[in-house]
Amino acid sequence: MTPFFRQNIELMAGYVPGEQPKPGTPIIKLNTNENPYPPSPAAMAVLQNLDSEWLRRYPDPYANEFRQAVSEALGVPADWVIVGNGSDDVLNVVVRACAEGDRPIAYPMPTYVLYRTLAEIQPAKTIEIPYGEDFQLPMAELAAENAAITFIASPNSPSGHVVPTEELRQLAAQLTGILVVDEAYVDFANETALPLVQEFENVMVIRTLSKGYSLAGLRLGFGIAQPQLLEGLFKVKDSYNIDAIACLVGAAAMRDQAYKNACAEKVKASRAKLMHELNQLGFRVWDSQTNFLLVQPPHPSENLAEKLYLALKAAGILVRYFKQPGLNDKLRITVGTDEQNHQLIETLKQTHLL
Ligand SMILES: *Cc1c(COP(=O)(O)O)cnc(C)c1O
Repeated sequence: MTPFFRQNIELMAGYVPGEQPKPGTPIIKLNTNENPYPPSPAAMAVLQNLDSEWLRRYPDPYANEFRQAVSEALGVPADWVIVGNGSDDVLNVVVRACAEGDRPIAYPMPTYVLYRTLAEIQPAKTIEIPYGEDFQLPMAELAAENAAITFIASPNSPSGHVVPTEELRQLAAQLTGILVVDEAYVDFANETALPLVQEFENVMVIRTLSKGYSLAGLRLGFGIAQPQLLEGLFKVKDSYNIDAIACLVGAAAMRDQAYKNACAEKVKASRAKLMHELNQLGFRVWDSQTNFLLVQPPHPSENLAEKLYLALKAAGILVRYFKQPGLNDKLRITVGTDEQNHQLIETLKQTHLL
């Protein structure tokens, strides 16, 4: 029988997103790093007042209204911006445009699993280089590989650490391939690699509205790079990858930096409190510049991470457990509201597993 799929598709596992219970289910959802606060009221007003004419017509293929808003908010030229249906779409376009068999994709591990999935679909070879013990960047190894694409999530998931801009600068200078810095969590961080886009024609910074802007359901992300790097990507992306609603609502959210920053400050304050409380329960907690914490329960040898994941789930609290080497003794917990975090701590105490 002729197989339906190419061999690489037959063989690959497929990306497994975090569980998404139906909205309205009484659950505390701390597993996929959504923002616990609602989107900007200005963005919601645009949605509520949307003229039907926007839906009758095809959308702007370049989402120029949104690019203009990015330009104003971040001080980059509008034509240095490529917009995607979530930043996952931008990552996908970069892989499709730049990688194949002998044009590999490199990234330090552990990191965002989608990089591997996209490489498997292409297919392109992956070069996975472990981070150091305290998440030091394996710069020399990455530079020596000089892959067609080097992906660095910074701040990284699931570790929560930031790769210092100076290290990314040194790496970019040694690469002739593209360095993609995935800044999905930058709104909760103290540092950004955005200046490198000015300095290097091979650097692209990717951002999303899913985390900092509370718009994961809208699907809107963007990449910032010099126009000659974007040129090839525009050939590859779907013409109408941004729907008209996402373009307008996203532009309003981007223009409301004050609201986004205020929510991020609340999350950062809650993050510090939660970190302290988990420490008190005996967890090892890694420093985080994101809206989640990577934690290791006391007695990691007893499979406690998985037990706690299941006990929390039974009590209606979802956190993320990765059943893979190096992570299967840890949990990734999204920072919720203070009330949600309090419930998490109380529930952990009640498991009597600690
Ligand atoms: C959440 C996340 C993304 C995906 O963002 P979308 O814009 O929702 O597609 C990209 N990279 C990392 C590291 C993430 O954690």
